[in-house]
Amino acid sequence: MALPVEEWGGSGWRGKETHKENLRCCLAVFACQISGRCSRKPHSGASFDEPPRSPEVALCFANRSAALFHLGHFEVCLEDIARAESHGYPDRLLPKVLLRKAECLLRLGRLQAATDTLTAVENKMTVDGIMTSPIHLTLLKKLNQLKTEIHEGRGCPEPSREAHADIQRESEMWEENGSISGASSSLSLNFNTERGRHLVASQNILPGQNLLKEKAFVSVLCPGEGDSLLLQDSSETVWDTQVTNADLYCHHCLKQLLASVPCCGCSYAKYCSQNCADVAWEQYHRTECPLGALLLILGVFCHVALRTVLLAGFSEVSRLVEWSHDDSNKDLCSAEAGDKHPSEALDTRTGTKGIPGCNDNGQYQSSYQAVFNLLPHVEKHSPEHKFLCMLSIVAICKKLQETGLEAAVLNRGSSTMGLEQKTYGKTSDELSPELMIIAEAMLRHVLQLQCNAQAVTVIVFSLSLESGDGAVVNKKPVRLATAFFPVLSLLNHSCSPNISVSFSGTVATVRASQPIPSGQEIFHCYGPHRCRMKVAERQQLLSQYFFECRCQACLDELESDVESVSMRNSFCCPSCQASMQGEEMLCCSNKACALSVSRERLSRRLLDLQQQMEKALELLRDSKADEAIRMLLKCQMDARNFLSPEHLLMGELEDHLAQIYATLGKWQEAARHLEKSIQLVEMHHGPSSVEMGHELFKLAQILFNGFAVSEALSTIQRAEEILSVHCGPQSTQIQELQEMKTCLLELPRSMLQRT
Ligand SMILES: [Zn+2]
Ligand SMILES: [Zn+2]
Ligand SMILES: [Zn+2]
Ligand SMILES: [Zn+2]
Repeated sequence: MALPVEEWGGSGWRGKETHKENLRCCLAVFACQISGRCSRKPHSGASFDEPPRSPEVALCFANRSAALFHLGHFEVCLEDIARAESHGYPDRLLPKVLLRKAECLLRLGRLQAATDTLTAVENKMTVDGIMTSPIHLTLLKKLNQLKTEIHEGRGCPEPSREAHADIQRESEMWEENGSISGASSSLSLNFNTERGRHLVASQNILPGQNLLKEKAFVSVLCPGEGDSLLLQDSSETVWDTQVTNADLYCHHCLKQLLASVPCCGCSYAKYCSQNCADVAWEQYHRTECPLGALLLILGVFCHVALRTVLLAGFSEVSRLVEWSHDDSNKDLCSAEAGDKHPSEALDTRTGTKGIPGCNDNGQYQSSYQAVFNLLPHVEKHSPEHKFLCMLSIVAICKKLQETGLEAAVLNRGSSTMGLEQKTYGKTSDELSPELMIIAEAMLRHVLQLQCNAQAVTVIVFSLSLESGDGAVVNKKPVRLATAFFPVLSLLNHSCSPNISVSFSGTVATVRASQPIPSGQEIFHCYGPHRCRMKVAERQQLLSQYFFECRCQACLDELESDVESVSMRNSFCCPSCQASMQGEEMLCCSNKACALSVSRERLSRRLLDLQQQMEKALELLRDSKADEAIRMLLKCQMDARNFLSPEHLLMGELEDHLAQIYATLGKWQEAARHLEKSIQLVEMHHGPSSVEMGHELFKLAQILFNGFAVSEALSTIQRAEEILSVHCGPQSTQIQELQEMKTCLLELPRSMLQRT
């Protein structure tokens, strides 16, 4: 990959707002370059205190600071300039970077600092002597221009909006539960042998009410798939860099990265700040860093298991492992797992004291003790699976022993290792007794994860590339990380849940999605949702959690023969468009027609159609919007011939058409198509579902962009009502909706009358 030299700050970039997206892509590419160049090979025993100095890295940081400057991120830009300087930025290029620094300070309103920096630049240029080259002349001009600006006191800062929003976000009403950390006081922890541990409403709960706010005990970023769209904008893709989640989010706090700080020891871990990098290193990355490749190969569950024991610390791990060897404690856990007959004591017990995972005061906290007490279902996993897990764990422990990382895992200084290290050193085939304890705990965690892993997801907004900033947008939930949330794990599954979970960084927030009367259980959906699949499919998927779902939705569907979902996803007669019946061979329900077609043939036709649709989207990405529209309209005609009008694909087609019209700025057409797609979303997911909220948000944006004021206002209203229930009144989406509303209401009257 060619390294763009720090010549980008020139005039070519100025004022091209439409290139913001390009700039953002550049940030991701710079991040890859920086960590590629910054890191030394693993196993070099990277000392964290002294970042390696390298002019190449310094150039990367300086390049990125240029991109950040043009995006208006002045604070972050200053940080990158400081990094460039500390990495030994080439002296001859320094004036240019210092001028950028002065300009940042000026824009931030820090006039004195800006003046000081300018003085430094002047001195530097005088010392260097040569003032005749064109570059120096340009710099000199810039310098004088900046001086004038400072003199006139220009460049006053705008008040930081983000900081303000953060403060607001904290202010939501909240009464915490005395015995469950992070939970609302309107919940209580119950236990019985049939349902295990579960949370119940102890008073009537209203939709949108905040029920639980929990920071993950541990979370590990999933490398994920690259978002190829991000870089496809540039007409010729010169970067072979695939941007993945690992480049876009902080490996510690999961915040979206703007200017990442790379790990000094590997090219994988990246952080949002030096603080996250330091904390991660102290707590776990010191050990994980040299294992990087092995952990990526073994998969995210093993990685979570290792990080869990690292975070817990050896003394806590060994305490609980020993505790679990005590037979009287085994009873407690197996009673919940339904393996054995419950001991009588359990049923007669009152209060939360003695419920697995609770401490001596009867409190259930987001602690390692709670994580340890999540059910591993040891008896229910297949022997093959258990063998594979064991093998993976042993591989990690062996590596820890070989690379001399054992001391770090056991939280000991290497000086105290002494004798033991010699006995169980590199030559020994056996794991040390301490590592055996670690291995046992890790195996338990890997097994637990199958039922208790919680995906941390974010809604990713993919901006339409054509029209720059304002436009729409596709939103899809993306799995960011795998985590343990011991309190959230208390919730049992239902295919028709009564809560919504949303994430901000590593914090999960649970809200009631409907009224929950006192005494009713709180249900989370583990994945298989009533709206998305048939009961048989759901039961099949849920078998990985070792239970048969007996939720109301499942019972209802099993009793009646109505296959609600399949009706909506069915074929219709290619000849007369009546509904089709049958299994392998489908027969037209219209007796006059009585056409019969094999299901296989129709499925193949559906597949063809989906491929056509993909091609149309490719055309769109190549900026051939007109061709894409023609192709999609053809798909739509074809689809009408053999798919029921409620088929999900019909909605997708409308949605794609809306997207294309939006990129062309044809807002009315876009809105018309999106409305049709929304009808189908409503039919499949229900009128107050979070999916419906996202769609209405999209529609609101389109109507807003098209100045359809009254329609936009009513759509904003509907979207707000739904999204505030699922994501809370302080969520970014609600904030955006309110900004749109304010903007519309401030429009001059003449504008309003246009609609
Ligand atoms: Zn971070
Ligand atoms: Zn590292
Ligand atoms: Zn169910
Ligand atoms: Zn027919």
